[in-house]
Amino acid sequence: MEALEETLLSPEMIAARVRELGAEITRDYQGKELLIIGILKGALPFMADLIREIKLPLKYDLMAVSSYGASTKTSGAVQILKDIEMGIEGEHVLVVEDIIDTGLTLNYLVGNLRSRKPASLKVCTLLDKPSRREVEITPEYNGFVIPDRFVVGYGLDYAERYRNLPMIGVLKPEVYENG
Ligand code: 5GP
Repeated sequence: MEALEETLLSPEMIAARVRELGAEITRDYQGKELLIIGILKGALPFMADLIREIKLPLKYDLMAVSSYGASTKTSGAVQILKDIEMGIEGEHVLVVEDIIDTGLTLNYLVGNLRSRKPASLKVCTLLDKPSRREVEITPEYNGFVIPDRFVVGYGLDYAERYRNLPMIGVLKPEVYENG
C-alpha cells in the first residue's frame, strides 16, 4: 500500500490473532451468553471478524464515542455520539475496541457502562499502546502490544481515511504534510 511507510501487522497476522482471541473468549464464556459492544467506527472490521470466531450464542450492539478530531492527538474529552440500543443490566458485556492509547476513552466508557449494572464487564482490544497510558486500565483480551506510533488500517483512520486497508501500518510523513 503506497501510503504506508511500514506495515506492522499483515492481514495474515491479524487473522491468526483474531482466531486465537475468539477461541480464548469461547473458552472463558462457556455456558454463558455474551453481549458484545463494538465501539465505532474503528472497531468495526475487528468486531466483524472476531464475532465469527466466537462459538457461543451472542448479541451485539454498537456505540460511538469521540475523543479525537482529525488530528493525531487526543483532546481528552469523551462524548457519546451514539448509544447502544439494548439494556445491559444482568448481561455479560464484552467491549470491543480498536486501540487503547491514553486509556481515557475506555476509562470513561467502562465507568459509564458499569453504572448500568451488567453481570460482568470485560474489554477486548485489538491493539494496545501501553507506553502512552494516562489512566490505569488493562484490557482482559489484547491482540497486539504496539510501540508508540500512529497507526492506520483495519478500521483505524487518519482523517477518516485508510480504514479499509487490510493491514495495519504507519503512514508516510508526507501524507500528513499534504493534509
Ligand atoms: P485513548 O482514549 O485511549 O487515548 O484513545 C483511544 C482512541 O484514540 C482509539 O479508539 C482511536 O480512535 C484513537 N487512536 C489512538 N491511537 C491511535 C492510532 O495510533 N491510530 C489511530 N488511527 N487512532 C488512534
